[in-house]
Amino acid sequence: MLDGRALRRSRNKRLKERVPSLERPPGLAVVLVGEDPASQVYVSMKGKVAERIGFHHRQIDLPADTPQAVVEATVDSLNADPAIDGILVQLPLPGDLDDKAVVERILPEKDVDGLTAASLGRLMQGRPVMVPCTPLGVMRLLASAEVPLSGASACVIGRSILVGRPIAALLEQANATVTLCHSRTRDLEAVVRRSDVVVVAIGRPEAIPGTWIREGAAVIDVGINRLGDDRLVGDVHYETAAARAGAITPVPGGVGPMTIAMLMENTFRASVIRQGASAELIADL
Ligand code: NAP
Repeated sequence: MLDGRALRRSRNKRLKERVPSLERPPGLAVVLVGEDPASQVYVSMKGKVAERIGFHHRQIDLPADTPQAVVEATVDSLNADPAIDGILVQLPLPGDLDDKAVVERILPEKDVDGLTAASLGRLMQGRPVMVPCTPLGVMRLLASAEVPLSGASACVIGRSILVGRPIAALLEQANATVTLCHSRTRDLEAVVRRSDVVVVAIGRPEAIPGTWIREGAAVIDVGINRLGDDRLVGDVHYETAAARAGAITPVPGGVGPMTIAMLMENTFRASVIRQGASAELIADL
């Protein structure tokens, strides 16, 4: 079992040890618009972790009816704030607010969520600076289990711009041969059956049966689905897949915990670069 919580602990500990080497603590600003309960939980978790690691953290709460121009002006002021190295706008934004336009206001050097066109463009060019947090977490989990990627046959199921597509690019850059699947893929089962690495990010509870998994394959389940009885399950049927997989992430406790840890790494990286601190501090991140 690929334990995301244990990996998160060790990665956060490493960052905490490095913060005192900087002239000032890394600064993370999180913008929350509206009162969506799930977003409130995520934002407060991010704040708690940032503070625990020794970062400067600021949360900006705006009402749901905030005009687009005011949300963008908030991002502009954080762009200009020297104490802030990373800006995250909690998505989705409520109502008619334009997520993409707000995200694009973030300066690329402060784009710790890695979602601006500049960050994604650099990723596609194979010279990433800020890699989106969930895809980065997926790669860290595979590395922690020493899953061989070079020459491996990999499939990514789900092609969202936040998750599936960046993961496919990262796997390809690690020299895997990648098949990117989606809702129109014909004979998904055959693709999964021949894959050494299977990453699933579709948001459909237990849609991928364990019987499809090749013996010994690495399975990364990004999906988080809440069932009627409040149970959380992934996109893969865990019990049957675990019986065949060489390595597999549970839900919860797999990819989820890594996402916030990677936000902290990206913020630390942004801060080291902005402060002109030693590149050694981020060389092994
Ligand atoms: P999304 O934007 O809804 O994209 C879903 C993708 O899955 C689409 O590309 C869709 O294909 C494809 N798809 C849907 N049903 C399919 C099926 N039956 N067979 C094959 N492909 C199918 O979702 P997302 O934002 O990428 O998120 C995916 C899941 O990951 C969700 O459960 C989300 O909660 C979870 N998530 C977890 C984390 C974390 O930290 N662990 C972070 C982000 C997201 P089309 O393009 O053809 O429509």
